[in-house]
Amino acid sequence: DWVNFTDFFNKIIERFEMTKSQHVTFIKKIPKDDLYVDIDTDKITQVLDNIISNALKYSPEGGHITFKVNVLPAEIEISIRDEGVGIPKGEVNKIFDRFYRVDKARSRKLGGTGLGLAIAKEMVYAHGGDIWAKSKEGVGTTVYFTIPYNPEQEDEWE
Ligand code: ATP
Ligand code: MG
Repeated sequence: DWVNFTDFFNKIIERFEMTKSQHVTFIKKIPKDDLYVDIDTDKITQVLDNIISNALKYSPEGGHITFKVNVLPAEIEISIRDEGVGIPKGEVNKIFDRFYRVDKARSRKLGGTGLGLAIAKEMVYAHGGDIWAKSKEGVGTTVYFTIPYNPEQEDEWE
């Protein structure tokens, strides 16, 4: 379906803003422009739900989560940054593997199956995008993904 990604993303963030139980502040760096993309909204909702719930799950009380949309020549780059525990160096790419979890004891306590990001990766790839993360232990994690975007699409409709 064709959707305006900025509206779509803002609504998902709003839903988390209303239901979150921790004191975590949301910061949005999202352009005001319409950004029409052709996506499977259920699947990209699932991708965002997992990334945002991970960010909340690993955030400390009083932390910030920053939501960003970067418009590039042929794609939009979405990023979600937290100030949580982070991921050890060398393991950042493994978090997209099935059942991979950084610290078994910690993960067991926080719940989950370790499938969320593996599924997210499949769904982003199915859209022709990419997904990756950057992290520093004790500082935080940023998860990025891209979705193909044609800025000329909007002009064609005018
Ligand atoms: P599920 O998503 O299936 O409920 P999960 O959240 O443990 O379980 P993934 O979302 O695939 O699984 O994440 C895999 C692992 O990557 C997590 O168990 C955690 O160790 C690590 N991880 C993911 N996101 C973050 C984050 N924002 N900060 C720190 N560690 C993270
Ligand atoms: Mg998860």
